[in-house]
Amino acid sequence: MSIPPETVRQIQEAVNTDRLLETAVRLVEVPSPTRSAAAVANRLDEIIRHDRFEVERPEAGWPDAPAVVARFHANGSGRTLQFNGHLDTVHLPFVPPRVENGKLYGSGASDMKGGIAAMVEAMRVLQETDLLPAGSVLLTAHDLHETPWGDGSHVDALIDAGYIGDGVLLPEYLCDRLPVIGRGLAVLEVNVTRSGAAVHEVLGGIDQPNVIEAGAEVIRRFAELDRQLSQQTHPLAGRASLFVGRAAGGEIYNQSPIEFQLSGTRRWLPGTSIEQVEREYRAILTEVADARGVTVEGRFQLARDAFQIDREDPLVLAVQAAYQSATGRELPIGAKPFVDDGNSFIRRGGVPAVTHGPDAKGAHTLHEEVSVDELVRVAVVYALTAIAFCEA
Ligand SMILES: [Zn+2]
Repeated sequence: MSIPPETVRQIQEAVNTDRLLETAVRLVEVPSPTRSAAAVANRLDEIIRHDRFEVERPEAGWPDAPAVVARFHANGSGRTLQFNGHLDTVHLPFVPPRVENGKLYGSGASDMKGGIAAMVEAMRVLQETDLLPAGSVLLTAHDLHETPWGDGSHVDALIDAGYIGDGVLLPEYLCDRLPVIGRGLAVLEVNVTRSGAAVHEVLGGIDQPNVIEAGAEVIRRFAELDRQLSQQTHPLAGRASLFVGRAAGGEIYNQSPIEFQLSGTRRWLPGTSIEQVEREYRAILTEVADARGVTVEGRFQLARDAFQIDREDPLVLAVQAAYQSATGRELPIGAKPFVDDGNSFIRRGGVPAVTHGPDAKGAHTLHEEVSVDELVRVAVVYALTAIAFCEA
């Protein structure tokens, strides 16, 4: 798959840096912590209506902040490329937008209002240049992405309602590889409790079922399972794992406590069933509870399932051709280290999805920043991907 150099030149010239940056600033300046994205969705609606795109506002199960959907059709029939972004940001104090020395700062600059502005600019450029030979572009933007405040249900409902293209691009801040595989993720929370009240060690405490020992046993069993999981590997995606990141219990040194908590993650490779993963986890909890005379409750919060797409998939080839045309370099095939809405498009929607966004810094911190050059590059890559992908 190759894109004519003349087409590349025309797209690069058509991307309007000031307009792209203004869009990004206008999105960042509207605070939108997860579950409160209505105002920024209205702002995006206003921006793209002004660009004369057809806009739809499906609720997709979240009437508080209906999603934003826009389309652009070429004349001939062909594939539909979807640009999908989340409008919500993590719950941190709001940082207003600021542009300084070629960089955009502020809440969502990196994750992912900068990327959404780039996808809007890509759609504008395709409309203005008339270079999309066939097919169409579908732009979708939604709330409820960031955990633990959101659960991914807004994008899932959009997928279920049929707002889905033949391939999807997502502008998360991953740009050093072309991800064709990613592990699944569930967040684990375990609570070990015993009956009765907290009591002094010498007033009967020492005779109580020991929740700390039981918790330690759960941790030991998890570590044992993790050693077995380390045998399940993939050359790109790494290994399956069970990781404990937090453990806590007890109030003071000579009191028998009633509660012990631990939390961590379980990651698995494509081809593993989620049901099997959850059963394995629950079996350990039940065995420890029975052996230690305590109650062990476990949460298994599924984030996203694992995925794999064909590295010869037309979407993968189109992104590669677009990236090479825009930068002169090849994008190495790799794995996605995190989970995102792309996993849902692949597993729930049954279409290929590629995460590719700006080289942005500080996601999930107060110091988000992205260079304007990177936003321009992403807009060019998105427009060129559409040209390469939709004609077929
Ligand atoms: Zn994000």
